[in-house]
Amino acid sequence: MDAPLLIVANRLPLVRDAAGWRPASGGLVTALTPVVARVGGTWVGWDEDAAGVPDRVEGLDCDLRAVALEPGLVDGFYHGFTNRTLWPLFHDLVVQPVIDRAWWRSYETVTRRFADAVAAAVEASPVPPTVWIQDYHLLLLPRLLRERFPNLRIGVFLHTPFPAPELFARLPWRDALLGGMLAADAVGFHTAPYRDNFLRTVNRVFPDATVMADEVHAPDGHRTRATVHPISIDTAAFAALATEPATDAAVAELRAHFGDRRVLLGVDRLDYTKGIRHRLQAIELLLERRPDLRGRFVFVQVAVPSRDDVEEYRRLRTQVETEVGRINGRFTEPGRDVPVHYLHRNVDRTTLAAHYRLADVMCVTPLKDGMNLVAKEFVTVQDATDGDGVLLLSEFCGTAQEFGHDAVRCNPFDVEGLAARMEGALELAPEDRRGRIARMAATVRDHDVFRWVDEELAAIGGDA
Ligand code: UDP
Repeated sequence: MDAPLLIVANRLPLVRDAAGWRPASGGLVTALTPVVARVGGTWVGWDEDAAGVPDRVEGLDCDLRAVALEPGLVDGFYHGFTNRTLWPLFHDLVVQPVIDRAWWRSYETVTRRFADAVAAAVEASPVPPTVWIQDYHLLLLPRLLRERFPNLRIGVFLHTPFPAPELFARLPWRDALLGGMLAADAVGFHTAPYRDNFLRTVNRVFPDATVMADEVHAPDGHRTRATVHPISIDTAAFAALATEPATDAAVAELRAHFGDRRVLLGVDRLDYTKGIRHRLQAIELLLERRPDLRGRFVFVQVAVPSRDDVEEYRRLRTQVETEVGRINGRFTEPGRDVPVHYLHRNVDRTTLAAHYRLADVMCVTPLKDGMNLVAKEFVTVQDATDGDGVLLLSEFCGTAQEFGHDAVRCNPFDVEGLAARMEGALELAPEDRRGRIARMAATVRDHDVFRWVDEELAAIGGDA
């Protein structure tokens, strides 16, 4: 029998609304649903309303174990160490990480809370579970669990990039973090460059450990596999969504509004890693340099609110909204529509798919991004409807490793170059565009999120 699965993530996969608790939508939850239905599972995570979290919710076949954290701890751990130290450090310092010892102490304390909750779940399980830890919030956890359970199968997956050794070295707690990860049996990354950064960092921080191919051998005999498994999407679900009648209707409505204008699209959390400001500046440059294009295209930016308790994110929102206002102020003709449509909100899945269908150029231009699922969703939706949109893709995101030159690649730091790439994307021949979309969509179909889960779990179990 397969071991039951114990998933540990910062958050529980739940939302609460007037009707009560229900499973959150999201790729990870969708991907794990069939696995936990088969082997059984428990999910451990933090929730603001830990005391109110039910043991189970309908539609999610696993037990829920909430970790409670007081507001002071959340500040140091979440608003501080994870979002203002690790996040910018792991994204190549697109803003400067803050080093704060009190935040680090909160991170340690929170990890101990998680370790207690996981230990209780392990002890309650009749069969030893496979423990799968998600992301940079919990990098110390494998070590604490290993001390209590020497034979437990433990894996960690890092959803962000892993930085170069000389950047990681700036962390005063680099030994502890790296040692935490190495206590796992398998550590997963999206791409080979992130995995290689990790292995080079191990060489630098722990010269006594031996790196043999993709395995780290510790002096005490423990071995850790460093694997590469790019996260993905539920392609079948996105392809089906693309052709639903509700999506057709939403496309028709948007098309009626935009008329024959070409559509450039951005869909991102409002995060400084996403390159939204550089993208807006490139749009402005394009409007400035090509008067003939004015009124001929529209740029739509969906900016999903994110981390607005954190100062850098509030500042970014002000900057983005100032830029949007400036561009629309400069280039709107009296009585005509604005060149930039800015939606600061979550959009529903139908609206999202309709925008993906409508886009002539999907602008995925992050300064740094672990993977980027929006790019995968776009090519899947376009392909399902025989679309010939162009994917403009930053070379600094994980997805670029998979799509090669079927995407129009760009360096988002170079605003002039970015504007030129946008221009080039608008001018690509339709037959060329269609072939590119079909090839990228085939890659995503071949490596969907279910495959990602299977490969990760096989690696943690030592089977692959
Ligand atoms: N998304 C969303 N709400 C929206 C628009 C997009 O939840 O209003 C989803 C989108 O479909 C995608 C995810 O947010 O699955 C963004 O994932 P990505 O890997 O691109 O970036 P992340 O936000 O994880 O950095």
